[in-house]
Amino acid sequence: MKSALLAAAAFAAALPSPAAESDGSPVRIARWKGDAKGAISLYYDDGTGSSFKNALPELVRRGLPGTFYICGGWFGGEDDPNLVRWGTAAKEHPDIVFLGDHTWNHGGVTNAAQFAEEVSLNGAMLRKIAGLPEDALLSFALPGAVRWDVKPDEQAEVLAKHHEVLRHDFDGNVGGPKDGQNPTFRMKTAALAAEAFDRAEKNGGWESLIFHGVGGDWITFDLEEHGKMLDDLEARAKTGRLWVGSAIDVHKYETERDGAKLRVLRADANGIDFLLPGLDPIEEGWLGPLYDYPLTIICTVPADWKSIRVNAPRVSRVDALAAEGIVFPVKDGRSVFDLPSGIIGVTIRKAD
Ligand SMILES: [Zn+2]
Repeated sequence: MKSALLAAAAFAAALPSPAAESDGSPVRIARWKGDAKGAISLYYDDGTGSSFKNALPELVRRGLPGTFYICGGWFGGEDDPNLVRWGTAAKEHPDIVFLGDHTWNHGGVTNAAQFAEEVSLNGAMLRKIAGLPEDALLSFALPGAVRWDVKPDEQAEVLAKHHEVLRHDFDGNVGGPKDGQNPTFRMKTAALAAEAFDRAEKNGGWESLIFHGVGGDWITFDLEEHGKMLDDLEARAKTGRLWVGSAIDVHKYETERDGAKLRVLRADANGIDFLLPGLDPIEEGWLGPLYDYPLTIICTVPADWKSIRVNAPRVSRVDALAAEGIVFPVKDGRSVFDLPSGIIGVTIRKAD
């Protein structure tokens, strides 16, 4: 191991300085997908008609994902067209429209058993209308302004059992208001939303914005401001500054990233060999389904290389790269590509 590290350090030292990674390693996992500086998630609570009519098409048009938190009990059964349309949108745009669990009734709970019932009913309904497998991971949002008598450990147990994950809230503040003021009521303009985007870029963080009504319904966010906010976000996403991901995708990336243990075996003039064992759900005590979210890898190679061939022949649980490897371009001695985690044994070689 020691010699591998020395070899890696020597390899990095031989590279032109602009290309060398800050930690001196020839290969690393990007903090966020696509090597974006920060991550943003857009949440639309309560499944409002205005978010369906006004926000959803704008997200689809721009290719920006959003998570829509729905209470199944508010509708007249699984054939209610106002519920079915959410499932149809999720099926038509599986990378844009994500349905999240906001409890069945939004009425609060007085004990863990009642919470489990709410989650079980709503989660099953949402997966059914969206055509997802029974164990598909869903994001869960606590309903606001209602009685909530469930202890945090009971809550975590119920969510894990039902394949749900408590959503990451605004400004890294999970599950509640900050400074005594709910950010939902504070964030009313595109300019205020931009502050969160700036913060994510500056701090490398994961920020989220919560909407309810968009140009209608309740806790309304102005329609024109919503469009401006999306224009801003789209520009930041296109230039690679921010990754806009659904609540569950950013959670998956973050979890895979933090669980993966990248280890460089060899790095020299011929290329780089490394291990990328992913999060082991059994070892880590994770009760939910296996994640399958690819990680963005950044590698540094000699500046005269124009492209690399990446081989990852042994894969533990996700699709392997093609047997002959995949070629990725190199720019200024640097290549950025996505790789499924859970891979054992990756080689990077000069392709051109
Ligand atoms: Zn709500």
